[in-house]
Amino acid sequence: MKLTERVYLVGSGSAGFSLTHESDCHIYLIDGGSEFALVDAGAGLGKASILDNIRTHGFALEDIHFLFLTHLHADHAGGAAGLREAMPHLKVLAAKDMAFALREGDEKAIGLDAGKKGGYYEPKYRFEHCPVDFELVDGQVIQVGSVAIKAWETPGHCAGHLTFVMEDSGKTVMFSGDNLFFGGKILLQPLPDCDLQVHIRSIAKFAGWGIDVFLPGHGCISLKDGQRHIDEALSWPERCLVPPSFL
Ligand SMILES: [Zn+2]
Repeated sequence: MKLTERVYLVGSGSAGFSLTHESDCHIYLIDGGSEFALVDAGAGLGKASILDNIRTHGFALEDIHFLFLTHLHADHAGGAAGLREAMPHLKVLAAKDMAFALREGDEKAIGLDAGKKGGYYEPKYRFEHCPVDFELVDGQVIQVGSVAIKAWETPGHCAGHLTFVMEDSGKTVMFSGDNLFFGGKILLQPLPDCDLQVHIRSIAKFAGWGIDVFLPGHGCISLKDGQRHIDEALSWPERCLVPPSFL
């Protein structure tokens, strides 16, 4: 599904548009002209349909050079190993803080043990370990063809969460992962690396940015006036209240 001049939606689960496996987050493809990138990988249970969607839009798997991971929760990063296998030139990029968890397939570090107990994943589901080619830190810019993608550290929903921002035909596009959802909603979980105060600071980082296109990890998206979701989220702590929950 083409969203903007340079961004396509190639995967999405039941908390979104049900394009691919129900456990998948939104998976975006960025068209940099001569190079291409994905944002997030899904859970790894619906690889074939993601690859089909990429090909259907006319992109060759060998031309996808980068996989940007917003964070390592299984619905976003569980599919990284499978995509890397299917795409010979794919480089995997994740936050420096948590890269070890993907390299080691550390299910406890990413909260998957709790996710299994909560019934969100089958007990037999495995978080596939995967090499990380680049460890990203705050403010780092990665060039994908003619598009510059900037990584911002946005912990709070979990450790090692990144938000990506790029320019697309005069519009500022934000890939917010699970840092922020449509309507200013957030997702707190009773996990050791989830922290409300840190989370709010990670949203406040984007106050006044004039974001146009708002592309979160799940749920509804905005193709214009994306800044309103940031403003809405920040209006709650201003009143000493917690932003509403996405789920
Ligand atoms: Zn998450």
